[in-house]
Amino acid sequence: MVCSKHLSQSAQCLQNPIRIAVVGSGPSGLRILGSHKHLYILFKRQGKPNHAKPQRGLVVCQLNVINSFTTTALNKRVTFMGNISIGSDISLQQIRDNYNAVVLCYGAAQDRKLNIEGEDVSHVISARRFVGWYNGVPDDRDLDIDLNCETAVIIGQGNVAIDCARILLTDSQQILSNTDITKHSLEKLSKSNIKNVYIIGRRGPMQVSFTIKEFRELTKLMNCKTIMSSEECDQIPQTILESLERPKKRLTELIIKVSKESSTDVEKNAKK
Ligand SMILES: Cc1cc2nc3c(=O)[nH]c(=O)nc-3n(C[C@H](O)[C@H](O)[C@H](O)COP(=O)(O)OP(=O)(O)OC[C@H]3O[C@@H](n4cnc5c(N)ncnc54)[C@H](O)[C@@H]3O)c2cc1C
Repeated sequence: MVCSKHLSQSAQCLQNPIRIAVVGSGPSGLRILGSHKHLYILFKRQGKPNHAKPQRGLVVCQLNVINSFTTTALNKRVTFMGNISIGSDISLQQIRDNYNAVVLCYGAAQDRKLNIEGEDVSHVISARRFVGWYNGVPDDRDLDIDLNCETAVIIGQGNVAIDCARILLTDSQQILSNTDITKHSLEKLSKSNIKNVYIIGRRGPMQVSFTIKEFRELTKLMNCKTIMSSEECDQIPQTILESLERPKKRLTELIIKVSKESSTDVEKNAKK
């Protein structure tokens, strides 16, 4: 099925408009709109934006994507063509022959391999596929995810890692069921035995690349405790902290606060 939304009546009045094909309707594709004299045709592999309905504390960045998508879709110079995969449904050459310009915004369609031992062991999966699994990407629907164990390890300390951790640790019945996360992943997550999630990075707390909003949401998860290794956080000199730009400073202060709280909890538990 091809799902297309033609919103370009008034745009048709333009004389000889330049027609620009945009492949992909992620954040890059949605930001491509430029001159008012041009018409934009957005091609997308799936029929709808591929994100779960945001809920407070979940997939925070996707709220911005939904807003951008709605604004773009309402723009009369834009035609949205869903369920069309460039390269299999139509060729790039066909698009080039029919449009004045083509902009490729297809994102990270493949995993970046680290070429390290154990990478291909079963149940070692990329975040790209894991996110696809709970967001309804058809290719990832049947991904074999083992949630029978108690511990999951996430490599990387950016917002993707935080989102994956939140999905694994959020109460699936109470919270996730209010989002439009896929039914099959909700079913599996509701039976999950995961109790601990380790988020591992190659460097220290000053080098994490997640943002404060996402990290704060993680620290507020119901029935969940975020623990930061205090050893490294204690070593951040005040002078360095003061020299940071405001967003980084606020994030680092929160990290230090969480790490102090974690060590107090560890001490309390040791005394018990
Ligand atoms: C879980 C998660 C959390 C994240 N959190 C944050 C955050 O908090 N802040 C932040 O800044 N970034 C965040 N990111 C990163 C952000 O989502 C990406 O940087 C961004 O999506 C990249 O945008 P893009 O438009 O380049 O590609 P994408 O968003 O990947 O979009 C690619 C588009 O191309 C389409 N497409 C691909 N191949 C074809 C084809 N052959 N034919 C037609 N269409 C095709 C796809 O359907 C899709 O619409 C997060 C990512 C994930 C996965």
